[in-house]
Amino acid sequence: MVHAIEAYTSKIRKNSYSDMLAKQALTLLSNNIVTATFDGKNIVARQNMLLGACLAGQAFANAPVAAVHALAYPLGGHFHIPHGLSNSLVLPHVMDFNSSHCANLYAELAPFILTTINIQDSPEEITVSVIDYLDSLIKKLHLPTRLRDLDIQQSDITTLADDAMLQTRLLVNNPKTVTHADALAIYQAAY
Ligand SMILES: [Zn+2]
Repeated sequence: MVHAIEAYTSKIRKNSYSDMLAKQALTLLSNNIVTATFDGKNIVARQNMLLGACLAGQAFANAPVAAVHALAYPLGGHFHIPHGLSNSLVLPHVMDFNSSHCANLYAELAPFILTTINIQDSPEEITVSVIDYLDSLIKKLHLPTRLRDLDIQQSDITTLADDAMLQTRLLVNNPKTVTHADALAIYQAAY
């Protein structure tokens, strides 16, 4: 889901083809992730997750990922946190950070993630709904939600931010410029 969301909001190479892939990926993934997680014998749900992941991969192959990945990589590198989990730990916080610059794009994705949307809501309000949903999904899937849950110390945050700022090939794709202070604040919010 992160691959699709970041591809859809990618600043430089966003295009109609990657947008189409991202939307279909999110439809498949958001409709099947809970079933596939808790009922591993459900072959249809697993098949849909496999196809959704494949389409999301094609989406970000055409419109690269950005700050979620830039901040997730140091978590994997230093603390051996698996890729999906490291992304989920920072995803809601990066989306909150980005919302001032791409709430309209997050709102465009909302119908492919949420089951209900209040069409009277502004893009910013819809973005909050999407972030709240992803927060609740992360909890529903019993994933750790805070960096402190993974034996990461407060004193590690500066090193994480230092390393995140080295991921320039990813940061350049982010809809909002990320400074070192921003990276610190996002990790702090995730802590
Ligand atoms: Zn990834």
